[in-house]
Amino acid sequence: MNITVLQHPLAQHFLTHLRDRTTKPSLFRLLTKRLTVLLAIEATQSLRLRDRHIETPLESLDSPVLEESLVAVPILRAGLGMLDPLVEFFPDVSVGYIGLERDHATAVASSYYAKLPPQMNGRTTLILDPMLATGGSAAQAIATVKAAGAGRVLMLCLVAAPEGVAHLGAAHPDVPIFTAGLDRELNDLKYILPGLGDFGDRLYGTEG
Ligand code: URA
Repeated sequence: MNITVLQHPLAQHFLTHLRDRTTKPSLFRLLTKRLTVLLAIEATQSLRLRDRHIETPLESLDSPVLEESLVAVPILRAGLGMLDPLVEFFPDVSVGYIGLERDHATAVASSYYAKLPPQMNGRTTLILDPMLATGGSAAQAIATVKAAGAGRVLMLCLVAAPEGVAHLGAAHPDVPIFTAGLDRELNDLKYILPGLGDFGDRLYGTEG
């Protein structure tokens, strides 16, 4: 399987607090950002570098800088919680947005918005969606960025279900998945178990 589950103890610590139903939205947002930093660092280990000639106060040398500029595409609305660290850490990142809404009764995703950078041409593109449940939304978003000309596509999620991993592996075997947790299964409403509930509601304090 093309999946990497973060092993760092901090990732597990952050994820446990994210899962905890007593965690309030302000802490939930902070933990989301921290976990996304760890995921992004893991996912971008193979970014291309080029040498740049610089002068230190003592000597001159050729020293590596990032050659590639990334594209980050959060899936609205929950993926927005993962965007800030990408913008803060990666210089020259371009951001696109894909809006997919899951029908709570059928769990089928439908698109209501897509705005991608005009220059996708071959650039490494990170899809941000915290919960990889059925994999339907992620597969649709990946097809959209590929059609727009994305190069390597990487899927970043905080929690994945085996069903979503299998769906994505079949639809886009070339797309590696990076997650902080691989959970047990989906329930009848297509929520991840043990999971953490509705991510968007917990992020934005809109739980009923
Ligand atoms: N989306 C969520 O917010 N939570 C789940 O468990 C599955 C999909």
